[in-house]
Amino acid sequence: MLPYPSGKLHMGHVRNYAIGDALARYMWMRGYNVLHPMGWDAFGLPAENAALKAGRPPREWTFANIAQMKSQMQRLGFAIDWNREIATCEPEFYRWNQWFFIKMYERGLAYRKEALLNWCPECGTVLANEQVVNGCCWRHETTPVEQRAMQQWFLRITQYAGELLDALNDLESGWPERVVAMQRNWIGRSEGAEVDFRLEELDEVIRIFTTRIDTIYGATALILAPEHRLVSELVTEGEALLKIKEMIDATARQGPGDVEKVGLFTGKYARHPFHGGRIPIWIGNFVLLGYGTGAIMAVPAHDERDFEFCRTYCVPVVPVIRAADGELAEGATMREPFLDYGILENSGEWSGLPSAEARQKMSAFAKAHGFGEPSITFRIKDWGISRQRYWGTPIPIIYCPRCGAVPVPENELPVLLPEKVKITGKGRSPLEAVPEFMNVSCPRCGGAAKRESDTMDTFVDSSWYFYRYCDPHNDRAPFDSQTIAHWFPIDQYIGGITHAILHLIYSRFWTKVMRDLGLITNNEPARNLFTQGMVLMGGSAMSKSKGNVVDPDEMVQRYGADTCRLYTLFAAPPEKDMDWNESSVEGQYRFLGRVYRFVTRNVDRAGDGDPRASRQALRKLHQTIRKVTNDFDSRWHFNTSIASLMELVNELYQHEPGLSAAAAREVCEKLTLMVAPFAPYTAQDLWGELGAHGPVFRHPWPSFDPELAKEDLAEIPVQVNGKLRAHLQAPFGTPKVELQALALSLEKVRPFVDGKQIVKVVVVPDKLVNLVVK
Ligand SMILES: [Zn+2]
Ligand SMILES: [Zn+2]
Repeated sequence: MLPYPSGKLHMGHVRNYAIGDALARYMWMRGYNVLHPMGWDAFGLPAENAALKAGRPPREWTFANIAQMKSQMQRLGFAIDWNREIATCEPEFYRWNQWFFIKMYERGLAYRKEALLNWCPECGTVLANEQVVNGCCWRHETTPVEQRAMQQWFLRITQYAGELLDALNDLESGWPERVVAMQRNWIGRSEGAEVDFRLEELDEVIRIFTTRIDTIYGATALILAPEHRLVSELVTEGEALLKIKEMIDATARQGPGDVEKVGLFTGKYARHPFHGGRIPIWIGNFVLLGYGTGAIMAVPAHDERDFEFCRTYCVPVVPVIRAADGELAEGATMREPFLDYGILENSGEWSGLPSAEARQKMSAFAKAHGFGEPSITFRIKDWGISRQRYWGTPIPIIYCPRCGAVPVPENELPVLLPEKVKITGKGRSPLEAVPEFMNVSCPRCGGAAKRESDTMDTFVDSSWYFYRYCDPHNDRAPFDSQTIAHWFPIDQYIGGITHAILHLIYSRFWTKVMRDLGLITNNEPARNLFTQGMVLMGGSAMSKSKGNVVDPDEMVQRYGADTCRLYTLFAAPPEKDMDWNESSVEGQYRFLGRVYRFVTRNVDRAGDGDPRASRQALRKLHQTIRKVTNDFDSRWHFNTSIASLMELVNELYQHEPGLSAAAAREVCEKLTLMVAPFAPYTAQDLWGELGAHGPVFRHPWPSFDPELAKEDLAEIPVQVNGKLRAHLQAPFGTPKVELQALALSLEKVRPFVDGKQIVKVVVVPDKLVNLVVK
């Protein structure tokens, strides 16, 4: 995942990109053509905040940070193809955001509607969600943020909700289980039914959505959202209208989660569609217009929230489901709702059916009789992309008094973000105050018109940036489709778990839209996803305010880039959080020194040495190759790879005096190759010492010889009560408990011990196992 150019690299970046770099180098050595790119998620709020504080233009601030972070990455030795570098704030990039937006607009996937925004009355400006701290403005800590309704642009991600959910099944093999589960929950599919309740007086129906139509005989009220379209027809009395307005305002001020639940009886009734009884109609501030139909049936006996509401307002509680092995509860004395599935009671012809069966049959019945149908709802909402900010992609729309909203013609893209804009922190978008930008002629009628002043959410940039790496300089299209077909989907995407929901859902959505536009053929952006852990110190995340930040520059200066990289890979498995430990950094520094000295000392070794020492050194070498190769090919537990390289070097020092010229040469060469993905500078230096030319990582990864890697095995006789029954093979030095277990599991031994009591086990390591049974 591309970084945000916030200023300097932190240790989290070093770790993240060291993981990717080790993998990229390994894959090169395995003979793959690897595209290992880097870019900058360069639009966003911090640049604007810096402008507001320090008076520095966002562009200048951003590019200074990019230069800084790029040079740090280069110093750390990340093998990145800088020819493909992109910055999302460059017009060459963001013009394609605008192009995609227009394509979506043409297909009804981008639309405009009124939505609530955070507004600080003190600043007189719209606030981003991250500028709202404990419900107050970030600059006015005691001023509560208000919600104001304004026209916003949305992308219709809900149109893809079903596919985004279903396709998670295919991602299960390559994406972390946790991310898949979080996405499933976020998309939030509920299977249920929509049912109409006919009003007594008006010729209207109230449509509700429920996941539990099996409980519908227990419905004792209908509750509408205060903004429901029928409220104005049901309530005409002044005082009640005032109360409803108060409800809406309170929710707008505090957000729906925080307000106390209140209800208001309208005095009107509807008819129950199944049994025809009278059902009172209420208005409740906790019913959301945006979810389902904006109206619910209250079934207090079988729903927590409805139970609470109905007890407060003395609405009857009518149980209609009992546990399969239990009795039906008494409504009047019920202490808490019964939430489980069970058997229907007091439900007319449906009584006696189990809940699951009733759900199917009752929604089919509703459909057959024209008062409802089975229905699926999703929790995921359309993606609001309007931001009242300067430092983002201008939304390519022009408002004409005669023609309405008109998209900017394709050949006029990009709509350039003007420079030298004063960021005041006032008003809606800073662009509103730039007449040269705002005033245009309508592309359709030529009359005077105004541009959209909002810019796009920066998650738009990150939804498709990785495609641009494949064709970064294309000025005729976002990319060449055939080039994408060659590279995509991404074989390995690496980034933090914090992006499990937004970025990783938006980029999947964008991929599906691009596929439907005929631009690409892949259905998903990334086949494999890896989420690395965080870098902590003293158990908590590194942060300036806690004063526990380790500066990568300082580390590189003191220990060198290789040590710094090696340590972040060694300290923990890459998916786990790691706790920074300075003494362990020094351990890695010493290890690299040992590698360096060993190779430089032994590269030109002569003579035959001691055959036993050479054989043992080569055995350890090939075992280590096997281990490190397995780590790369499976879970990337580089911590154990590096530990086994350390073990190898320790053993090589023991055998050093007896090494033959040939063994020394092989050991030096393959050790250097194995170190290369983790510590490329050291490896490259040693590669030169070995007399080789060119980049070390262009040399094939060493393969291991299973024969050489084999342990010398001891042939150990196994006796039962002193009689020889079998032999077992085990590496020299196998511990007693293991030899005992091995002996007991032998097929030739089992008949003599099964069903008997083992009184005593005598083990002479490498020599004998004797089992005494009776
Ligand atoms: Zn404020
Ligand atoms: Zn016009």
